[in-house]
Amino acid sequence: LMGYVGFANLPNQVHRKSVRKGFQFTAMVVGESGLGKSTLVNTLFNTTLYPPKVPLAPSEERPKTVAIESIGADIDENGVRLHLTVVDTPGFGDFVNNDDSWRPIVENIESRFDSYLEQENRVNRSKIVDNRIHACLYFIQPTGHSLKQLDIEVMRRLHTKVNLIPIIAKADTLTDEEVLQFKQRVLSDIAYHNIQIFQAPTYENEDEETIAEAEEIASKIPFAVVGSDQPIQTPDGRIVRGRVYPWGVVEVDNEDHCDFVKLRQMLVRTYMEELREYTNDVLYENWRTEKLLSMGV
Ligand code: GDP
Ligand code: MG
Repeated sequence: LMGYVGFANLPNQVHRKSVRKGFQFTAMVVGESGLGKSTLVNTLFNTTLYPPKVPLAPSEERPKTVAIESIGADIDENGVRLHLTVVDTPGFGDFVNNDDSWRPIVENIESRFDSYLEQENRVNRSKIVDNRIHACLYFIQPTGHSLKQLDIEVMRRLHTKVNLIPIIAKADTLTDEEVLQFKQRVLSDIAYHNIQIFQAPTYENEDEETIAEAEEIASKIPFAVVGSDQPIQTPDGRIVRGRVYPWGVVEVDNEDHCDFVKLRQMLVRTYMEELREYTNDVLYENWRTEKLLSMGV
C-alpha cells in the first residue's frame, strides 16, 4: 500500500466512521472554454462515465459544454467507498463582455451551501446529503505568460467559497522547462493578487513517508495536466491514455510526463478529508455566518 497515506493517518474513530458511511466528494472544473475541462472530467472517471451520447467520428470535436452538468459515480479507492461527483461548467471568456462570467458558477456554489443549511435546520438531521463543492479545479491556459485579468477576477470571486486548485491546462503544449517557469509565474501572480489557493497541509509528527508524499504533492501545485479519453499505442506497444505527437507520445498516467496522477491522488486520497474539512469548517461556516447576519438572525 505504498503511497496510501491520507486515510491511514486519520484518527481511528473518524476513519472508521467515514469508511462505514462512505464519503461524498464533489469537485468542480472551471475555466475558459477549450482548455480541456470536459476531457479531464472524463479522464478522472477513466472515460466510462461520460461517454459522448453518440460516439464521435474521428474528425469531430467534443461538443461544447453549454450548461452546468454533474457526473457522479461510486468508486472504491483502496477499500474506501467514495461517491465522487464532478461538476462540469461551460467555459467562460467567449463573450465580448465577460464581466459576469463568474456569476452562474458562484450561484451554483452558493445554492449548494443553501441546500446544506436547509438540511441542517431540519428536525431530522441524520441523513444530510453533502453536495457542497469540496474542490474547484481552476484551468489556466498554457500561455507561458502571466495570468489573464479575467482569471484573476474569477479566482477572486471564488477563493472565499471553494478550495481553489490551480491547474495548468494542456501541459503537453509546453516543454518541461516552460512548465516549470510557468508554474513559478502563476504562483507569483496568485500571491501578488492575494488569491487564496488550497494549501496542502504539512505534517510534523508523521512518518517520513507521509511527509515526503505531502511535500511531493505540494511541490506540483499548480498541477500541469494532460487529459485524454482516447487509448493510444506507444512506440513500444503499450496501450495507454495519452496524446500522440510526431515527436512522441504524452502519457496521462506517467508521472514523468504530467501531474495528472498526483492531482487525482490529492483529490481522492491524500487530501480528500482536509478538503472536506476546510469546506465545512471555514468556507461554509463563513458563508453561513454572513448569511445569517445579513438576515438579521
Ligand atoms: P472544455 O471546453 O474546457 O471542456 O474543453 P474540451 O474538453 O471540450 O476540449 C477542447 C479541445 O481540447 C478538444 O479538442 C480536446 O481533445 C482538446 N484537449 C483536451 N485536453 C487536452 C490536453 O490535455 N492537451 C491537448 N493538447 N488538447 C487537449
Ligand atoms: Mg466543456
